[in-house]
Amino acid sequence: MSLDVTALRQQFPILKTQIDGKPLIYLDNAATTQKPQAVIDALVEFYTTCNANVHRGSHHLSDEATRRYEKARTTVARFINANVNEEVIWTSGTTESLNIVAHGLAQKLQSGDEVIITEMEHHANLVTWQQACIKSGASLVVIPISEDGELDLAKFKAALNNRTKLVAFPHVSNALGTINPIKEMTAMAKAAGALVSVDGAQGIAHGGVDVQAIGCDFYSFSGHKLFGPTGIGCLWGRKDVLEDWPIWQTGGEMIADVEYQQTTFGTLPFRLEAGTPNISGAIGMAAAIDWFMGLDQHAIQTHEKALLTRANELAADMQGLRLIGTAKNKVGIMSFLLDGAHPADIGFILDRQGIAIRTGDNCAQPLMKRLNIPGTARASFSIYNTIEEVEAFFRALKKAQTMLA
Ligand code: PMP
Repeated sequence: MSLDVTALRQQFPILKTQIDGKPLIYLDNAATTQKPQAVIDALVEFYTTCNANVHRGSHHLSDEATRRYEKARTTVARFINANVNEEVIWTSGTTESLNIVAHGLAQKLQSGDEVIITEMEHHANLVTWQQACIKSGASLVVIPISEDGELDLAKFKAALNNRTKLVAFPHVSNALGTINPIKEMTAMAKAAGALVSVDGAQGIAHGGVDVQAIGCDFYSFSGHKLFGPTGIGCLWGRKDVLEDWPIWQTGGEMIADVEYQQTTFGTLPFRLEAGTPNISGAIGMAAAIDWFMGLDQHAIQTHEKALLTRANELAADMQGLRLIGTAKNKVGIMSFLLDGAHPADIGFILDRQGIAIRTGDNCAQPLMKRLNIPGTARASFSIYNTIEEVEAFFRALKKAQTMLA
């Protein structure tokens, strides 16, 4: 069955927005996705009916808030096929999740150890490991990519050795759209005895993430890229690894027993969750997952592919347009440059026509330098975008090209 995009769009109030009298065409979904009414309602309902702090009250509202908050953890655990709920740590998003892993790793690393990343990293999956290496004296090894934006798997394999302590890579590149062969890469890294951390910020929205099948040790993601609220995300980690992971922040919630001179820390998941959590965020994120999983997953994927295919056809027909990232296995992220035009000017002209895209370095400055480009313009498609919107985007792009010539 094909996706009823018209009905789907009705569930997103923001898609009715007009920009200077023109209908909004939102093509910045890799930055953040829009929120369906079900998620907005879940947030309002929480604050309207059961706002209270969790895990500490001896009253009805606190019990109800705790029940919903922990139920949200179960929803996430099932969504990614975690073995047990304790493996799901609430964070403020991918960035914080990666920082928890890198902060702990820095305490385990020593001079002579190696951490492997790739040339296609978002800053969140680069500066984190770079700083852990600087602190510990370990070396950061960077695996090259091809001109198409695909990882060089032979070089990846060759870089693995008994000094490799952790390998970090993105499930999907935010700048190039490349889907990495994460199962294969994880298997190679595990064979070398390394820990594996996957940056799932862009991978999570495309469904079908099964952390046990991937075989990694950590998988980090954000709620806001999956139709959920900002300020909430998760670190999934293998239980035996997380149990032994160095404490991150200290304070309330994460303790078992405290004396003036010493503390016994709590068990998972609480030992890595200090302070009052983002309760409404967790509930909103679970509402987003429930909503998302209620859609026909096959129909969504077919629709997303159709959007990218149409965009690729139109791009191929457009003189002076250069695609950045042409991997065979891609999500609906299209980074590009127009001859003689600065990406910021393209973004500005499209915005005047109601079209929202991203321009700039895509939070990946080393990748832009590696590709020898100043940045890109980037259109990223989601399930509520239509073929007509993709076509309108290219008409607007042609107009921008004429204006900037
Ligand atoms: N990694 C990748 C690949 C991303 O696209 C992003 C978000 N742009 C992040 C990490 C960081 O995610 P967040 O800002 O939600 O923490």
